[in-house]
Amino acid sequence: MRCSARLDSVTNSKAANFLRLFHIWKRGLDRAQTGSESEPLDSRRPLVKKALSAGSEEKRMSDAATTARILWRGARMKCPSCGEGRLFKGYLTREDACPQCHESFEGLDADDGPAWLTIGLVAHIVVPLLIFLERGELMPYWREAGILIAVTIVSALFFLPVSKGFFVAALWLINRKPA
Ligand SMILES: [Zn+2]
Repeated sequence: MRCSARLDSVTNSKAANFLRLFHIWKRGLDRAQTGSESEPLDSRRPLVKKALSAGSEEKRMSDAATTARILWRGARMKCPSCGEGRLFKGYLTREDACPQCHESFEGLDADDGPAWLTIGLVAHIVVPLLIFLERGELMPYWREAGILIAVTIVSALFFLPVSKGFFVAALWLINRKPA
């Protein structure tokens, strides 16, 4: 008898817990359907929030576009400021200032950066070419080696000023005073 009473109380407490959980779930469901009871409905707030986030998103995208444009100017070896004047007076010798807009390039020294970038870019061309030539066994080794050496030299000579222009533009961008 006592045992069955305890069982009843256990069952009852379980039922009560279940009922309590059900009420909490039901209250949440009602709130979701009718809107929050505790927070007053402010129709303007979400709109203002949305407008603000849209504005900052737009600004972020335009900043990214500006950055990409400046870096692209550098990679084309053009002045990062105006995009017209040349960046180099020789193959890799930087101008002191833009011949067009007279923007100073003083102190924008890329050091080893362009060399490292060039190695990375050239490797992405030469290594797949090496694998392709090796797999196909298309030609004798001396000819394969000749092609690879020629491609390495030509692509390195092409990418070195491009990389340097890119780095100078990146340095100009970092050092630029906010408008
Ligand atoms: Zn310029």
